[in-house]
Amino acid sequence: MKVLKFGGTSVADSKSINKVVAILNNNDDNLLIIVSAFGGVTNLLQECINLKGKSTEGILKEIETRHLEVIDNLSSLDGQSSLKSFLKEKLNELEDILDAISTIDEVTQKIISKVLTLGEILSSSIIYEILKQKRFDISYLDSKEVIYSKSFNNNEVLDNDRSSISIKNKLDLIKSKLIIAPGYICSNENNEISNLGRGGSDYSAAIFAKYSNAKSLEIWTDVSGVYSANPKIVKKALPIEYLSYKEAMELSFFGAKVIYFPTLQPLIEENIPVYIKNTFKPNDNGTCISNSTKLDGDEIVKGISHIEDISIINFEGSGMVGVPGFSKRFFESLSIHKINVVMITQASSEFSICIAVDSNDAISAKKVIDKEFEFEITQNRINQAQIESNLSNIAIVGDKMKSKKGVSGRLFNSLGQNNVNIRAIAQGASERNISIIIDEVNTKKALNSLHETFFEENLKDVHVFITGVGNVGGFLIEQIKIQREFIATNLKLNLKVLGISNSKKMLVSESEIDLDNWKDLLNNSIINADSETFQKRILDLNLRNSLFVDNTASDLIPNTYRGILKKWNWYHNL
Ligand code: ADP
Ligand code: ASP
Ligand code: MG
Repeated sequence: MKVLKFGGTSVADSKSINKVVAILNNNDDNLLIIVSAFGGVTNLLQECINLKGKSTEGILKEIETRHLEVIDNLSSLDGQSSLKSFLKEKLNELEDILDAISTIDEVTQKIISKVLTLGEILSSSIIYEILKQKRFDISYLDSKEVIYSKSFNNNEVLDNDRSSISIKNKLDLIKSKLIIAPGYICSNENNEISNLGRGGSDYSAAIFAKYSNAKSLEIWTDVSGVYSANPKIVKKALPIEYLSYKEAMELSFFGAKVIYFPTLQPLIEENIPVYIKNTFKPNDNGTCISNSTKLDGDEIVKGISHIEDISIINFEGSGMVGVPGFSKRFFESLSIHKINVVMITQASSEFSICIAVDSNDAISAKKVIDKEFEFEITQNRINQAQIESNLSNIAIVGDKMKSKKGVSGRLFNSLGQNNVNIRAIAQGASERNISIIIDEVNTKKALNSLHETFFEENLKDVHVFITGVGNVGGFLIEQIKIQREFIATNLKLNLKVLGISNSKKMLVSESEIDLDNWKDLLNNSIINADSETFQKRILDLNLRNSLFVDNTASDLIPNTYRGILKKWNWYHNL
């Protein structure tokens, strides 16, 4: 048996569900398939909760339209009426719940789970009927009858024993070749519907894979594997062919949301390989995650992941030096209040401790810490916790980093050269990751420059902004055009002209200017030249390896050098 999980984008509409059907048709194994809610539906349901059930008519209509599109396009005419009445019935139930929430103006955890899990109930039931109509030998397995959670240390965690027995018992009774189950959904210890956390369908699939003794788990999504960095931000990122479980866990913990981070744990014990595949490009290799060292290449750094919206909490004072039990109290208080700590750094002097948390948790974290150490704070032995926000966490990950010298040096060098200030640093004891905190505005620049350092050693992008394109400037552009290939081959620099200005017009954008046509483009530009705006736009782009070239004969532009260098943070080096 193989377990296949199809995420939200893979089941977003009738077109993508047709791709899923093709993938199923191409498989000869017995399959257990786990489906997410139709892409974006859980967010819409969450919005209904955020609005406390008020003014949600538009959202309910959107949810209805999304599901009707699939039913209308994929179900046989005979099957449509029963599917539509099922949809209506579920949406009426949702409306009743939202009315109740709006009246009492309160939302309990139980209600939240009831609302949020509706997406998977609808998607799995509709896809089940459609596959049945297409003559698949298929059974429906209700995840809330087989996956159970329990509370442990004030947190909801998987009840392994109960889930293992229930899954095995249920699967023993099912004889069909294909089984479909909703992702994300489980029952808590009171047998009420609950969920495995946002993104949790990956985890559902891993639990099913473990307890069905599956030979592999395939996670089908909208990208061709785990990439060397988030492909939406780093255009040159590439799929990683092979990752160890531990590397994949680190990357997902530090923000590679292509895998929900608890997913890999159940699979490690059984050594079940995971393949991350693209529903829209099924022939792409994707990523294989396993324990097999045979598949591993020579790469030292395998991937870079990041989390935005991070805050750091600094807590310091002489009262914590050498006090036994301090860390226990500190972290226990955060854990009791379910505050997830992304990163920890503590100076060896023990005079201060710094943690990184999701910004949504920052104020509660401060309150919890200040309350726990109220006595020491009133005695002036420790200061109140200080919050710094608008930060990002970036981690570079690779099993082989521990055996290679100079990795952190290259990281710091790459960021330093691009004026990215590092606010905090931590290295896991396993030396499998180095994690840093930087200002959020520099995230894209930092990710791209680190990617260049560790994955694109062959060719570095240099972003060129030229002011003054008369004789000298015009000739420079012609030279760049002619010499570009030579410079790329011999100096390993890829010159990209992104900005040109003369005294009348200017062009600045993130995309490269066509140097065969730059004169027309500049003359036809709708933006009038203004040196201050030109420089501001360069600074706003905040790109790595930026070069400002002044080819004017003007006395005015040199007067602005100081300002631009200052803003680029290089002034102190002059
Ligand atoms: P699904 O709905 O299939 O569960 P997700 O949206 O949860 O898909 O995860 C896929 C997305 O993860 C990609 O579209 C991509 O934007 C994002 N992502 C972030 N980091 C990475 C990475 N390192 N590799 C691949 N995708 C990543
Ligand atoms: N539908 C849920 C979510 O959007 C679970 C999942 O897709 O994995 O978080
Ligand atoms: Mg996901």
